[in-house]
Amino acid sequence: MREGKTWRYAGRVGTGFNDATLNDVHARLRKLETREACVTLPKSASARGVHWVRPQLVAEVSFAQWTKENLVRQAVFQGLRHDKPAIRVVRERAMKITHADRVIDPSTGFTKGDLVEYFAHVSAALLPHVRDRPVSLVRAPEGIEGPMFFQKHAGALDMPHVRMLDLALDPGHAALMTIDRADALCDAAQMNVVELHTWNATARFIDTPDRFVLDLDPDPTLPWQRVREAAVLVRGLLDELGLRCFLKTTGGHGLHVVVPLGRRDDWNTVKTFSHDLAAHLARTLPDRFSARPGPRHRVRKIFVDYLRNQRGATTVSAFSPRARLGLPVSVPIAWDELDVVRSGTQWNIATVPERLRQLGKDNPWDGYARIRQTVTRVAARLKNRALKT
Ligand code: ATP
Ligand code: MN
Repeated sequence: MREGKTWRYAGRVGTGFNDATLNDVHARLRKLETREACVTLPKSASARGVHWVRPQLVAEVSFAQWTKENLVRQAVFQGLRHDKPAIRVVRERAMKITHADRVIDPSTGFTKGDLVEYFAHVSAALLPHVRDRPVSLVRAPEGIEGPMFFQKHAGALDMPHVRMLDLALDPGHAALMTIDRADALCDAAQMNVVELHTWNATARFIDTPDRFVLDLDPDPTLPWQRVREAAVLVRGLLDELGLRCFLKTTGGHGLHVVVPLGRRDDWNTVKTFSHDLAAHLARTLPDRFSARPGPRHRVRKIFVDYLRNQRGATTVSAFSPRARLGLPVSVPIAWDELDVVRSGTQWNIATVPERLRQLGKDNPWDGYARIRQTVTRVAARLKNRALKT
């Protein structure tokens, strides 16, 4: 970083890369290699194996603290920045995480610091799923065994980078919030947020949802294989109707089937359609599916929860941790991974970064962003099918 008219060493970054970003950064650095050192290393840093480069590239790095030596602590690489000249990089304030050592999940020993690190690590994967949507936050100030708070509004919470949305979105209430940058995630983690739940619409197009979610809620005694089969059956129905759908673990008991939409249907259309889907499944496969909420209606079955598809309803975001035993995470998966996924809690905050590293540029939800399908067009097809059965 720049300090007056000279450069200053700010420490090292050991994580946040995957193979693709490492290769990219390496190729760029090689072109800048020089013999001349532009900074003096502090005594604690070894100069062995150091390659010097001309100070031109700028990397975005999140970090928890400055050490006494003025080096970054818990630094995570977030990506290169091409919009900022290197000469403008100066010392920034640290995130100010307090109580980082507090254990929030006694079953694993995960601490608040681990959670902060997780959010910093996955922000590039998580933010696209949250950005621009109203978000509700589940806070667990005393860890997951203490009381939890489901917050739709920021209230008195000190989260300077969390963006307040237009008051008109939720008339008569405090402003809804959204999270669209890594430091807002850090603010949230500092306020003991564990889970992020989002609407099925973005703030700019609040009246036309851009997805709906079928939440498969199994009877707790049901073997996982039945949950898998249920997801495949739901997909089969949607396929037949000409709708593409995507899958994620919930970090809990079930799976979420997510259907992207092109923002042409209103809430009422989407809500009615998702209810019709659930009803159709329950009618045609009554020993597998139920379309009625409440445990007694899904004994040995799976409740297809369609109720998350009305205005204001939320579902846990992809890559959100869950405030449950082991801090599991809701993770997008490809359909052909379903066979090897053994439960809704397959991944947790410690294993998701490894999965992302292994995936590299592969996206299990490849194609999701380009889909512009509508419910209105296929709703009649479902009705016809329902009449025939
Ligand atoms: P599982 O696979 O275990 O069922 P899930 O995410 O589907 O995981 P829940 O966390 O029980 O299951 O989902 C609860 C639903 O209710 C979510 O849609 C969530 O956004 C919403 N929700 C959770 N807590 C509250 C609350 N206190 N007030 C309003 N809505 C809530
Ligand atoms: Mn569920």
